[in-house]
Amino acid sequence: MSNEEFDEVDVPIRENDDGAEIRDTDIVFDCPHCGKNLVIDYRGAGLEINCSECGESVLVPIPDGMELNDLDLDPGEILKQLFATRRNYQKAELKIQSLKARLVQLQEALGVVQEVVAEGLSQS
Ligand SMILES: [Zn+2]
Repeated sequence: MSNEEFDEVDVPIRENDDGAEIRDTDIVFDCPHCGKNLVIDYRGAGLEINCSECGESVLVPIPDGMELNDLDLDPGEILKQLFATRRNYQKAELKIQSLKARLVQLQEALGVVQEVVAEGLSQS
């Protein structure tokens, strides 16, 4: 378990009727859109996932009274998950920055096009 790779936050969603074992720490809930019975690892608590049946986005419920003590996680593993989350956040921030830079480029290009069009109109 401690060998799991958390570079990508990837919590597999499972279907309750595929014969897979359900662990005590799994979260079992029904899709609010299609009613499909879904099973997801506790690490998916509070995440937004796509229903495996209807594809709608579903917010995984956080079980009442869920305590970290109930989970077979050691502090190192929790830290690894925290860092993975932060890494993904940073990646998203970088992506936003590059998109913003691209948007500025496009706006500048659009401004040039508008100037050319305006010049063309005034000359004709
Ligand atoms: Zn569904």
